[in-house]
Amino acid sequence: MRPKLVVGNWKMHGSLSGNKNLLQGLVAGVGAIGEVSASVCVPFPYLAQAQQMLAATPISWGAQNLSEHAQGAYTGEVAAAMLLEFGCRHVIVGHSERRALYGETDAVVAAKFVAAKSAGLVPILCVGETLAQRESGQTAEVVAAQMVAVLDKAGVGAFAGAVVAYEPVWAIGTGKTASPEQAQEVHAAIRALVAGRDEVIAAGLQILYGGSVKAQNAGEIFVKPDIDGGLVGGASLVVDDFLAICQAASR
Ligand code: PEP
Repeated sequence: MRPKLVVGNWKMHGSLSGNKNLLQGLVAGVGAIGEVSASVCVPFPYLAQAQQMLAATPISWGAQNLSEHAQGAYTGEVAAAMLLEFGCRHVIVGHSERRALYGETDAVVAAKFVAAKSAGLVPILCVGETLAQRESGQTAEVVAAQMVAVLDKAGVGAFAGAVVAYEPVWAIGTGKTASPEQAQEVHAAIRALVAGRDEVIAAGLQILYGGSVKAQNAGEIFVKPDIDGGLVGGASLVVDDFLAICQAASR
């Protein structure tokens, strides 16, 4: 059985004092969450704080983006090696907000995935369709194209130890969640796609669901066979909610 993983995506939220309370609360409650790994992906300036407060705890941390380049004249960018210096384990790659708002193409996302994986980070590759794409029956095709772009560039071997997050764009921050059946269908298709290249890697691949996961709906989503946990935005900013979602994953 694949281990469950719940990752918080803080997005562009936080302050030193607010983070301190949040992280203290998570550390205090982590003992009760059972057999699930938890991680928080924080804004770059708070990586040092996360490292300091989480280093001696079972909670991992990471970033929400990275550069596809190793170093150089790329003003405003952050390299994989820099994230490693702050103890990051995870890095989110290709979140739909970055694809939509910052023009990240499949090619850029694939290059970022390679940069993360070859540096020793665990990339969390986000894929997912828009509402218009779902309504016009294109979900499978869109998600497959996003996956294939990375599989072709990185090779299936790079998915060993990586994480995929299925995040329907219409469910992110909207309060609308994919039904457990809708999510399971896409997760199974992602796993089958990877299995077409390597069955062992596909069987071990953690595929998270993201999109308005809450304490109330997490249990029914995480129970599905191809759903290995969640990528959680809004609810990851509230200690009790995030811990309850982790608990739901451990059942
Ligand atoms: C996300 O940002 O990845 C996300 C899933 O957000 P939310 O849980 O708020 O929908």
